[in-house]
Amino acid sequence: MKKTNKRRDKLADWIFCRLMDILNDQNREIVVVFKRLARGGLEKDGKTYNGQIGQKDIVDDGTQLITIDPQISKRSKMRVFCHELLHILFEDIDDEKPIENLEHLLWPQLSESQKQMLGDYMYSLVKK
Ligand SMILES: [Zn+2]
Repeated sequence: MKKTNKRRDKLADWIFCRLMDILNDQNREIVVVFKRLARGGLEKDGKTYNGQIGQKDIVDDGTQLITIDPQISKRSKMRVFCHELLHILFEDIDDEKPIENLEHLLWPQLSESQKQMLGDYMYSLVKK
């Protein structure tokens, strides 16, 4: 394997671990809601769809709501979930573009089991 690929893998692993830290943080509450997005419906960007998280989606008790359109495939939902977690990880970045770029770098680098793990977390955070 080329050195650059190794570096990319290591970076992807590192980011994945940070996302896991967020998901395992006992002081943080994240709730996933599958709901049609209010404005404009689905926004497709390349292969992915944008979910939604934002100030308006932080409710009174500080819970962070991740809203994902229910109509997209399971695979796309997992990817949107990953994207929204990147927003939480880099919460001081307001711009959409760098987060999208990160997602495009990260997602193809993740192993199948890492993606499945994100998917499992996503469904475990759905509000009953
Ligand atoms: Zn975004």
